[in-house]
Amino acid sequence: MTITPLMPVYPRCGVRPVKGENCHLITEDGTRYLDFAAGIAVNLLGHSHPGLIAAIQQQAATLMHVSNLYGSPQGEALAQRLVDATFADTVFFTNSGAEAVEAAIKTARAYHQVNGDTTRYELITFNNAFHGRTMATISASSQEKMHKGFAPLLPGFRYVDFNDLEGARAAIGPQTAGFLVEPVQGEGGIRVGTAEFLQGLRALADEHDLMLVFDEVQCGVARTGTLYAYEQLGVVPDIMATAKGIGGGFPLGACLATEKAARGMGLGTHGSTYGGNPLAMAAGMAVMDAVANEEFLADVRAKAERLRGRLEQFIGNYPELFDSVRGLGLMLGLKMKGEPRGFMVHLRDKYQLLTVAAGDNTLRLLPPLVIGDAEMDEFFDKLSAGAASYKPDAG
Ligand SMILES: *Cc1c(COP(=O)(O)O)cnc(C)c1O
Repeated sequence: MTITPLMPVYPRCGVRPVKGENCHLITEDGTRYLDFAAGIAVNLLGHSHPGLIAAIQQQAATLMHVSNLYGSPQGEALAQRLVDATFADTVFFTNSGAEAVEAAIKTARAYHQVNGDTTRYELITFNNAFHGRTMATISASSQEKMHKGFAPLLPGFRYVDFNDLEGARAAIGPQTAGFLVEPVQGEGGIRVGTAEFLQGLRALADEHDLMLVFDEVQCGVARTGTLYAYEQLGVVPDIMATAKGIGGGFPLGACLATEKAARGMGLGTHGSTYGGNPLAMAAGMAVMDAVANEEFLADVRAKAERLRGRLEQFIGNYPELFDSVRGLGLMLGLKMKGEPRGFMVHLRDKYQLLTVAAGDNTLRLLPPLVIGDAEMDEFFDKLSAGAASYKPDAG
């Protein structure tokens, strides 16, 4: 037998973390890494945050799981919290981002179909998007590398270029149910949707009675300096998927919707065994307690401005390596002159700095939102040393 017990779907590297301390990871052999990947925008409170630990420990000792056959005071409380803090009137809890997007896709289709309009099922999505790895969510992405081996895809998705409003307009037909878009593309390379594009989609959705669905799985939950990115982009969606940061490391996601958008999601239309269980709700509540306040958000924005300013200055020293800095808040991308993987590996293996490669030659910087000046200084020490010693050809 040559297959490994862990199904070999991930190209895992040699870093083997066994412990986390705030913004650092410690591996089996005791090496400390500065974590500017944060579980890919998940560990927004860093590692071993006392409030999150206490909430999970206390809930685990009180009531971990009951089925959705019973009333959920814990779910009602977190749903109310999200409703109060966002555009939404109602929330469905999931265990992951892909499930949250699945719920959003079903909600958008049901909006039309509950009234008998079965012809409107298609979502217009955008090139280089990432929405997850289930059949529906890979079908929603134009990226062929995720499709290979899994045909047939789910019908009902049409892809146009990101930030191409005219393309989106032209793709609308009698079968269109809505748009599904990341306001800031993550895996696609930290590409921020322009206000003109996103507001244009909103106008098109209003004009044609379409659902505007935002996938804020990566950019949501204080990452960009507002609780959700849509707030600063001047656009309000009808439906939104959130996950990653919302559990701070505990598996949790949610599909948020307005009352109107959720009109098809009545009794018995959707479900999840684990979704919204008391343990997950405790984690989500602890994260909201920490991040959903103006003080925390203002601090994220201030840190983001400092980090970005220093990055802009820094890349000027290495014009042959770096093209530009982009992103929103603490969701930053270093667009490189070539592919970013080699540099990511160099920073990781030589300087114990963890970052994430993304599409469009971009290196993603997704620090925990709780980074302080010391971590920022450590980051620039490592980044500078890494850039000075990096030889692109050597990989
Ligand atoms: C990570 C991600 C997903 C999928 O989330 P999972 O929890 O891995 O299922 C969906 N959309 C976006 C934008 C993401 O970044």
